[in-house]
Amino acid sequence: MLRVGILGGGQLGRMLLQAAANYPVETYVMENDEECPAAHLCHHFVKGDIRNFDDVYNFGKGLDALTIEIESVNDEALEKLEGEGVKVYPRTSALRTIKNKIAQKKFYVDSSIPTAEFKVTNNLEELRKYADFLPAVHKISMGGYDGKGVQVIRRSEEMEKGFDAPSILEKLVTIDKEISQVIAINEKGETALYPPVDMVFDPHLNLLDYQISPADLLQNTLWKIEAIAMRVVKELKSPGLFAVELFVTRQGEVYVNETAPRVHNSGHHTIEGNYSSQFDMLWRVILGYPLGNTDAILPGAIVNLVGAEGHNGEAVYEGLTEVLQIDNVFVHIYGKKETRAGRKMGHVTILSKEKQDLVHKAHKIKNTLKVVSNKTEEA
Ligand code: ADP
Repeated sequence: MLRVGILGGGQLGRMLLQAAANYPVETYVMENDEECPAAHLCHHFVKGDIRNFDDVYNFGKGLDALTIEIESVNDEALEKLEGEGVKVYPRTSALRTIKNKIAQKKFYVDSSIPTAEFKVTNNLEELRKYADFLPAVHKISMGGYDGKGVQVIRRSEEMEKGFDAPSILEKLVTIDKEISQVIAINEKGETALYPPVDMVFDPHLNLLDYQISPADLLQNTLWKIEAIAMRVVKELKSPGLFAVELFVTRQGEVYVNETAPRVHNSGHHTIEGNYSSQFDMLWRVILGYPLGNTDAILPGAIVNLVGAEGHNGEAVYEGLTEVLQIDNVFVHIYGKKETRAGRKMGHVTILSKEKQDLVHKAHKIKNTLKVVSNKTEEA
């Protein structure tokens, strides 16, 4: 039986383990918190820091394969393990390209993959030179996530909002739709594309608001998206499962925003909505099985359950019974003990033939199901 380790024990690891239960695989998870969402679903839990060389190296030594649920893992340890024969998904080289936004953007340019025009800035002083390039978006090269590390700069007076660290300054794109294209590629270079997902953002929290799949796209735009996603994974030269996030403009232009080299929030509906889920698919890639069928059983929507503002402490799921009464609704609670404002605590998948029904139910669920705590914060 193959022994496979997951670096990180959050909800992505948890859902990977739920899918792993169907296959002959012995699972290992490393995370620094024994109560993390994935801890009790793996065969072997190891407490450790995924950013620490020794911890990652000692965890991976002796395993057949490793995968990640977050990009910020120690890649030097992964490289050494790869050299010693451990199969790493995604390959360390692909992870490195993606982890650093400057390297990622240069990769797109070098691979002739369309992406918004950009400049590299190493500090605020360099940023100030680009007043002519505005309006633009400043993005910190390392360590940004969920909108942290991203600043829109429209006028030169706003330059001080930028990052005094290596970053990219990207032209502001007039976005019509934000699309995620989940794609798998195996060791032989065969690919499987899921129907694209339309991601609708909450401008306040900058966390995903709700998502609908398949996205409503012109045939021509869909072909562009698929061709671009295929090119991204072929050029990254790494087997694995990837989410290519793209911007579609009103003129129908398609630009890659960024790529995640792992299972992704925008693919959670595939658990119930598609014949082979993104989690099932990654196991197929790792275990060397044929790629799965990505076709949708029914169109789907995802609503993320995030911690309500002003609530910190033990999580309580208000409105759960009411939501569970709705047909074709699937609730996933990640098992995090403590809620905080904006923390991803779970998601709900809705399936329906009718798009209107998906949107209607998504709104209803957002208004009904709340993650709160009995202890509210003092104002
Ligand atoms: P993160 O990796 O933190 O999610 P992103 O680079 O995806 O950061 O940016 C977060 C959001 O900011 C995007 O989903 C998009 O809505 C907006 N954004 C990013 N880049 C641009 C751009 N060039 N033009 C317009 N909006 C952008």
